Amino acid sequence: MAHDHPEPDTDRWSNPDFCPFCGAELTDPGQGFLDHVEETDTCNERFEDWRENIRDDSGSEWSS
Ligand SMILES: [Zn+2]
Repeated sequence: MAHDHPEPDTDRWSNPDFCPFCGAELTDPGQGFLDHVEETDTCNERFEDWRENIRDDSGSEWSS
């Protein structure tokens, strides 16, 4: 998949120029990403899942 979760240790999470969930181009790297996630139900769910995964098994294998 071209637009799957980036590796957790890349800088793509801190400075994304596109949505890592759906691949949509973002108007702004920081706040634009958060705005996009809030506006997009699918990405919102995946963002919540991603954060739960980080919480639940940080340090374990990254599922892709
Ligand atoms: Zn998206």
